[in-house]
Amino acid sequence: SRKISTEPEEKTPLVVHEAPRGLQVDVRNAGVRFGDLAVLRDLELAIPSGQFLAVVGRSGCGKSTLLRLLAGLEAASQGSVTFGGKTTSGLSSDVRVMFQDARLLPWKSVLDNVRIGVPGGDRGKALDALELVGLADRAKEWPSVLSGGQKQRVSLARALVGDPSLLLLDEPLGALDALTRIEMQQLIERLWRERRFTAVLVTHDVSEAVALADRVVLVENGTIAQDVPIALARPREKDSGFTHYENTIL
Ligand code: ADP
Ligand code: MG
Repeated sequence: SRKISTEPEEKTPLVVHEAPRGLQVDVRNAGVRFGDLAVLRDLELAIPSGQFLAVVGRSGCGKSTLLRLLAGLEAASQGSVTFGGKTTSGLSSDVRVMFQDARLLPWKSVLDNVRIGVPGGDRGKALDALELVGLADRAKEWPSVLSGGQKQRVSLARALVGDPSLLLLDEPLGALDALTRIEMQQLIERLWRERRFTAVLVTHDVSEAVALADRVVLVENGTIAQDVPIALARPREKDSGFTHYENTIL
């Protein structure tokens, strides 16, 4: 039920994004500590606008902490994080996070869960977002009747409905079966290509990182141990410096 303009002069497509539109993120000399435990230290990371960055590393190395630092959910004990040259604190509508569990509100319908993500709870935009992830026909249902993969689609729709310029993904596909994971990878990649937001994906699955990202950083001992560009020719013909890591689950 989109409104089609009858103005003959108006040829503007529905979605126009001046490229690049993603948020540029600069992490300078940053650290996060919990009491005596320095989880991250001396971290330098410049993420250009529109990049798809993957962060890999062993369990407990600090990937989620880094993502939470970028989200403003964790304070830096040293250094700074700036967005497009500005310091912001906390989650803004420009920055969205998706986690391994969908975190849908069980007492709200699928549609109302997505409406949470859009200023003013705009129904039309929420429906468009559900359509984007292929779930418009499930709008009126409760989250509890959906499969794990469908819940993650709703979570993705809620993250994207506000048209964020930075999308932070913390192992969003970690709990999904292999086929659903591949479908979701393709969906995320398509949406990233269309919308050009900056994306940071945390994963312990190196092959997933290489498949999706155009740059992969490895976190070890609280800092970035490797920083590997992935050639843009995806998915197969890429010159990955991570060859010896491919198909490795850390
Ligand atoms: P990853 O996501 O790579 O598995 P995390 O960033 O979740 O790792 O955790 C990194 C380290 O920081 C772990 O040793 C974890 O126990 C510790 N940690 C994370 N959050 C907290 C917290 N709120 N308080 C204390 N320690 C924490
Ligand atoms: Mg984690």
